[in-house]
Amino acid sequence: MDYSICKASSFNADGLQSLLIIYDVCCQWKKKFMHRLTANPTISLPPSILMSGDITYAVGKFHLSAHIDECYAAHTLNYILGAGQIDGELMETIWGPLKGVVQTMRSMSLEHRKEAMDQQFFNHNWKKLISTSTSYAICQLVPN
Ligand SMILES: [Zn+2]
Repeated sequence: MDYSICKASSFNADGLQSLLIIYDVCCQWKKKFMHRLTANPTISLPPSILMSGDITYAVGKFHLSAHIDECYAAHTLNYILGAGQIDGELMETIWGPLKGVVQTMRSMSLEHRKEAMDQQFFNHNWKKLISTSTSYAICQLVPN
């Protein structure tokens, strides 16, 4: 997780001043993140982030309901300025659509299953892209 966060936050991050990290168990993971960061020379955050110190830790809405009560106020996306209305989940959003093909995939070979999963993700992303453009087009049609 440390490596992923450091690599993701460093990609096209020139001048990045703040960082919002959303992770299923961020409340636990964050506790020694800075210690691990300083102890491991192979990972680092962008210098602008380290200088600003503006790192916010959150837990996705699906996972936060399973945490203890004290986690809610400290890590809910609902109270983070600039987080908007995101749910902070990624893989979980495709569980529903995958449910219909999982039984079929069980009998597939590993390579066939990989191809089938790729097609499912491609289809999911394509539908998301198409619906995004429809929403955008509708927004463009609304008169000023
Ligand atoms: Zn928690």
